[in-house]
Amino acid sequence: MNPQINIGVLALQGAFREHIKALQALGVNALEVRLPHQLHGLAGIIIPGGESTTIGKLAVQYELIEPLRAFSAQGKPVWGTCAGAIFLSKEVGRNQPLLHLMDITVQRNAFGSQIDSFETDLAIQGVADAEHPFHCIFIRAPLIEKVGAQVRVLARLPQDGNTTNGIVAAQQGHLLATSFHPELTNDLRFHQYFLSLTERNHE
Ligand code: GLN
Repeated sequence: MNPQINIGVLALQGAFREHIKALQALGVNALEVRLPHQLHGLAGIIIPGGESTTIGKLAVQYELIEPLRAFSAQGKPVWGTCAGAIFLSKEVGRNQPLLHLMDITVQRNAFGSQIDSFETDLAIQGVADAEHPFHCIFIRAPLIEKVGAQVRVLARLPQDGNTTNGIVAAQQGHLLATSFHPELTNDLRFHQYFLSLTERNHE
């Protein structure tokens, strides 16, 4: 179904195994990335959820920051889920190592301790329509507060008492950010969407 391409998953910390499984289910070669040289030959990379400060610190220690920026500069798709989206962002309003690649401002732990984890079905542009929504799992999730002019909003939470129709999925060309965890469901549509970005890159 998918071409034999290599997709990396940053495997410093967090939910990288689940992304590997989802990619394998789609028939691509999924590779754990811990060192800069492991970026060679990859068509795209996923940065998993976990703890963004830990991922950032380890990325500094493993000298991955500049190689990841160079990888993105080649137009190769990079998708950050949850902590990965934070790490990908330009701004989080506090001092922690970031890639500063995607023109989004992110608020960490945006839902507070009372509802720090929840699940909801959402339509996502290009991925899931309202009739077949995507089951979105949020765990101590960030919200995308602000997006730059080049960024397309793919999904928002409905406005209700607890939330402020915040952005939970966005795309800037080859960069993708999601507040939730598609890799914790059996729904492969978001991973398939990410793969479609790598195909576009090959053309
Ligand atoms: N709260 C975490 C952070 O700020 C993200 C949580 C997650 O990735 N599920 O980094």
